[in-house]
Amino acid sequence: MDFDILKNLVKPSDTKILLLVMDGLGGLPTDAQDFTELEYAKTPNLDKLAKEGICGLHDPVAPGITPGSGPAHLSIFGYDPLRYQVGRGVLSALGINFDLKDGDVASRGNFCTVDSEGKVTDRRAGRIPTEKCAELCDKLKDIKLSDAEFFIQPVKEYRFLTVFRGEGLFGELADTDPQKTGRLPLPPRALKPDAEKTAKVVAEFIEKAKEKLKGESPANMVLMRGFSRRPDWPLFPEVFGLKAAAVAAYPMYKGVAKLVGMEVLGTGESLDDEIATLKKHWNDYDFFYFHVKKIDSAGEDGNYDLKVKLIEELDEKLPEILKLNPDVVVVTGDHSTPAYISNHGWHPVPTLVWSKYCRRDRVAEFGERACMNGGLGPMFPATNIMPIALANGLRIDKFGA
Ligand code: ZN
Repeated sequence: MDFDILKNLVKPSDTKILLLVMDGLGGLPTDAQDFTELEYAKTPNLDKLAKEGICGLHDPVAPGITPGSGPAHLSIFGYDPLRYQVGRGVLSALGINFDLKDGDVASRGNFCTVDSEGKVTDRRAGRIPTEKCAELCDKLKDIKLSDAEFFIQPVKEYRFLTVFRGEGLFGELADTDPQKTGRLPLPPRALKPDAEKTAKVVAEFIEKAKEKLKGESPANMVLMRGFSRRPDWPLFPEVFGLKAAAVAAYPMYKGVAKLVGMEVLGTGESLDDEIATLKKHWNDYDFFYFHVKKIDSAGEDGNYDLKVKLIEELDEKLPEILKLNPDVVVVTGDHSTPAYISNHGWHPVPTLVWSKYCRRDRVAEFGERACMNGGLGPMFPATNIMPIALANGLRIDKFGA
């Protein structure tokens, strides 16, 4: 849906929309079990919503494409993830609350290990702890560059954030990570002529960092990835006419929400903390993105039983959330993370939309195969979710006379 057209159709209302994203929700049956995690889990409350609502499976990016959480979330937020691409650097910066200015180039760095010839022997420097990372960042933060200001901050384990600030800097730079061990780090290479200056600035930083890290072990070099400037995108609250807030505990998700212009509410990590945050701010916004992370982590660890348990836990807490009386409830995942493959999958993701006005289908339980027969379809584009949610909140005007 074209944002300019949608923007003109959106009308104000006092309805409230809740978008509940269970990260990595979609699953697969296993060799031992002919049920997906969601199908196996006892979820009376989700089933009731599914029965009263309309169901389907969304396709996050494109058929057969396995998405990262960033693009998968953008898609649910209504942004075509192939058109709206953003570097990991910007997401990291927003996620750790770095005050990114217009024109800043952010990048995600890894501390790595190189041998005496300078070849990479460990791309993650043995996954050094975050405290060590902070110590090393401290060591590098006094580096002075001839043509730009420079900032560095630890993120997690071996990962850090760098930001370059100055006139005429651009994010179109290739990663310096050679992706494989036994190779030299790649030079920072401009992908368009405008970015030549940035390539020089980054090369100077890498040279100086290498000098300072000499003698450190195991982290004696840096690899730089995901260069980007903060993109100038249409903002979610303006496109959809919603005062929007995000309840998310993990940096990357806060980053994506902030990137599209949602207000990120301070919250603790547990589900109870997140629910308390939602309750506290319920009267202040008309759209809430509510993110539950741990279901995805269980899938990535290949832990079918834990994923089932976490889905059941969410289901148990659902009535407490629904007591707030949202007018529209969307429950979905950003992508599938089947425990069977211990990884993100390309498989479409179960989705339900509930409101007083949705055209109920025959689906009576929330699960992959049940959703295949739902009114939203077995593989609808995730970018349809927001317009459908708005319509159910009576927030879209008639198109044409
Ligand atoms: Zn995810």
